Amino acid sequence: MPENLLLISTPFYRCSGPNCGVLKGGSDRWWIIWSSFGDYELPVMHLAPWDEKLALQEGAMHVCGEGCAQKLQSQFMGNVLQSRARRSGG
Ligand SMILES: [Zn+2]
Repeated sequence: MPENLLLISTPFYRCSGPNCGVLKGGSDRWWIIWSSFGDYELPVMHLAPWDEKLALQEGAMHVCGEGCAQKLQSQFMGNVLQSRARRSGG
């Protein structure tokens, strides 16, 4: 492996936004989205400003900006409604 590749110690992130896939550069204006079944046993969507620790967390989605965050939110809401419809049999 060329020596200069060893200097790249930070993992690289790609935007999870639908049809985006932008690579994260030095910008800190990124967001992190993840969903969980928190305390209410309901799917909860979390949105947090960029944080390296959060970014490494399992299930974290890395988002380049507001536009992609909105798309993911709408995707999340769609999935929730879909699984609810499945559970109630239509
Ligand atoms: Zn994006």
